Amino acid sequence: MFQKILIANRGEIALRVLRACRELGIRTVAVHSTADAEAMHVRLADESVCIGPPASRDSYLNIPAILTAAHLCGADAIHPGYGFLSENAGFAEAVEAHGLVFIGPTADHIRMMGDKITAKDAMRRLGVPLVPGSDGALPDLETARTVAAEVGYPVLIKAAAGGGGRGMKVAQTEAEIEEAWRVARTEAKAAFGNDEVYLEKYLDKPRHIELQILADTHGEVVHFGERDCSLQRRHQKLLEEAGSPALTVEARNAIGETATAALKKLGYRNAGTLEFLYQDGQFCFIEMNTRLQVEHPVTEMVCNVDLVREQIRIAAGEKLGYTQADIRFEGHAIECRINAEDPDTFMPTPGKVSMFHAPGGLGVRIDSALYAGYTVPPYYDSMVAKLIVHAPTRAEAISRMQRALDEFVVTGIKTVIPLHQRILADPGFRSGDYTIHWLEKFVAAGK
Ligand code: ADP
Repeated sequence: MFQKILIANRGEIALRVLRACRELGIRTVAVHSTADAEAMHVRLADESVCIGPPASRDSYLNIPAILTAAHLCGADAIHPGYGFLSENAGFAEAVEAHGLVFIGPTADHIRMMGDKITAKDAMRRLGVPLVPGSDGALPDLETARTVAAEVGYPVLIKAAAGGGGRGMKVAQTEAEIEEAWRVARTEAKAAFGNDEVYLEKYLDKPRHIELQILADTHGEVVHFGERDCSLQRRHQKLLEEAGSPALTVEARNAIGETATAALKKLGYRNAGTLEFLYQDGQFCFIEMNTRLQVEHPVTEMVCNVDLVREQIRIAAGEKLGYTQADIRFEGHAIECRINAEDPDTFMPTPGKVSMFHAPGGLGVRIDSALYAGYTVPPYYDSMVAKLIVHAPTRAEAISRMQRALDEFVVTGIKTVIPLHQRILADPGFRSGDYTIHWLEKFVAAGK
């Protein structure tokens, strides 16, 4: 087992990894920008190293600075968390080239899944069902028109390098395809430096359902069921559930078998998530994330597993030590992402937290790096906490979440807590019968 792990991240996820390390008896190194000198992950780590100025590209994305910090502290492995360098194949390679272990999949698999076109290609060959669309990149607008006519409008033009909901444009009819093609490519070029795009049928009422996988280096691949992440605004998730109110045990088992068989054939290792759109009883693969996800805690709660601990054990070469038959699903879990944003306008509201009181009690978990007196810097993601609840049934989990949100006190900055309270009280959400478009409509209606 590793002696010391460097955590190449900040905020709640840096703390999450740090906690798993502590429980495994592994020492931790925090890295931070000058803006994060007072951050909780720095305070709690055994050692910390400043790796640059506030801008992410100069600090949390600064590979030479992070590798130097790892060497200075004598770390033997690096956990990338999510975001930042977690899906950067070059970083994974550089880590290994410097004789350290990258806690994640191989650079080749990160590269393959990082490009959505090669990812879909791989999944097609592995027998995973896809959203109908172009076979690979679109060479020109004419091909886009032809494929769109074949699969039928509306269609979505998507960036091969896309992420965070950027570089995605809908064309409702043929009259809109030229514009969608142009805008998606321009956005993709600006955001990712790559204007390659592909086309998918735009599904009108899907749910976003994703599957958590773990694979060890001894050929064992298991899944921990699904997360329903259909509540999204601008293609960004806001509230997640495990299990999905829309899925039967049979449907879960079937997609689980398909996905684990595919990743076994691929020789995948460590944690991964296959994302699907689910409509009319059909799963359509959209992308794979080769890292830990923000919403992993809901899976941890229903499966009673520590996914970060498992990632570390796998990276150290240990066997999982259990099979699919050993994995049990108990109760229901919900996560609310608490963003430091105005709950009506969604404008980020960085600033000083004057009061902070975390909810508690049975079945309540908080993953957050906030504390009273902490100043949320303006440079990074606005998510400052995740509130997770676990209860025997979905109805009880909803009541528990409402109770926990009521107890949650954060003053000095605005948060989306009031929006979560409105969502949880809404009959549409409570019925469990919602699609990826539900939240946009809910917000637009000013509910
Ligand atoms: P990103 O990597 O930018 O998050 P994804 O491919 O994961 O992009 O898609 C993000 C979200 O966009 C999905 O969860 C879904 O809400 C929506 N979406 C993506 N593809 C489609 C599609 N073919 N039809 C309808 N909605 C889609």
